[in-house]
Amino acid sequence: MTPTARVVVIGGGQAGLAAGYHLRRLGIEFVILDARSTPGGAWQRTWESLHLFSPAAHSSLPGRFMPPQPGQVHPDARHVVEYLTDYEKRYELPVERPVRVIGVHRDGLFLRVETDSGTWQARAVISATGTWWRPFLPTVPGRTAFEGRRMHTVEYSSPDDLRGRKIVVVGGGNSGAQIAADLAYDTQLTWVTRRPPRFLADDIDGRALFDAATARRRALDSGLSDTGGVASLGDIVAVPPVREARDRGLLKASPMFSRLIPGGVEWADGTRAEADTIIWCTGFRPALSHLAPLRLRGRRGRIAVHGTRAEGEPRLHLLGYGDWTGPASATLIGVGRPARDAVQDIGALLAAVSP
Ligand code: FAD
Repeated sequence: MTPTARVVVIGGGQAGLAAGYHLRRLGIEFVILDARSTPGGAWQRTWESLHLFSPAAHSSLPGRFMPPQPGQVHPDARHVVEYLTDYEKRYELPVERPVRVIGVHRDGLFLRVETDSGTWQARAVISATGTWWRPFLPTVPGRTAFEGRRMHTVEYSSPDDLRGRKIVVVGGGNSGAQIAADLAYDTQLTWVTRRPPRFLADDIDGRALFDAATARRRALDSGLSDTGGVASLGDIVAVPPVREARDRGLLKASPMFSRLIPGGVEWADGTRAEADTIIWCTGFRPALSHLAPLRLRGRRGRIAVHGTRAEGEPRLHLLGYGDWTGPASATLIGVGRPARDAVQDIGALLAAVSP
């Protein structure tokens, strides 16, 4: 028999858990399906030295503050995994693991959620699958020519097996800057960015980013001009390791090269940098392939939404993918509000279909 849950949440990372918290509060029956076998979402996969760019209290999901990590102002990823593990236990969130959703289909009054271990029927679906599972690699001339090792952010763990190597790190965002800082001491590093790196002021952390994202959304919703949001402040949060490497003069960026060659990279003027490893810190795309059967895909692999609700399917909400699904919704502190709004919207929908 096909199990039925009034709401199926796809993804048991921070966004899925925040949705679960609000569904519990409203007394709506639900299940969370998560492809990984252990709690913590993407935080289980980050590199070893990663620390949050905000203190614990400003990295909290709804209902429960993240406790401080002893000896750390900015907690590390391990601490976030412990917090999320505790969060789902504390609120007794029904997470089924490991269950990978393969496709969501329209099926009369229901949405049919097909997984690698059975099919669910739901009145509404919240998709909260994050971006970490869909690394993005730009197309660069000579891509197949390079003979060394290629990695994306998601495969980087620590400098341990890269010491002494010639490395090119590509990307001027937080991942690129943090990984470049990690490698700046023990490798022959070339850091390449599309435009000169834009460090945020040293006293700006995740709180200011959240405020900037919220102010932008409010301005746009009120028909005022775009404040620019987080992008207007800069690209790179100057977390302590980045600041230290920058202040020691170790984070000097070169412009983007024009092609790959067998032994490294080459700029348009013929200058070359040798490399045996290239690490692409070039971002992610939303992991939405499970929604393909609904045929909702719009520009840049996104789905058009009103708030978090899919414009072409009112029973579907998208949560946690970035500012386009709620201001700062891809952060711990920012996902609570869009999660609450999505669940309220679903509550109203359910009340309308079955009073
Ligand atoms: P994820 O954590 O990716 O969780 C999604 C879950 O969905 C996973 O468990 C996955 O297994 C599951 N899933 C995926 N596809 C399927 C499927 N088809 N079926 C079932 N399950 C599926 N945020 C902060 O708040 N503070 C920071 O300091 C901070 N620093 C960051 C630094 C870096 C370098 C990066 C990359 C991100 C940072 N973030 C930070 C951003 C953000 O908090 C994370 O990206 C966060 O993990 C997103 O949470 P999520 O729940 O949306 O997705």
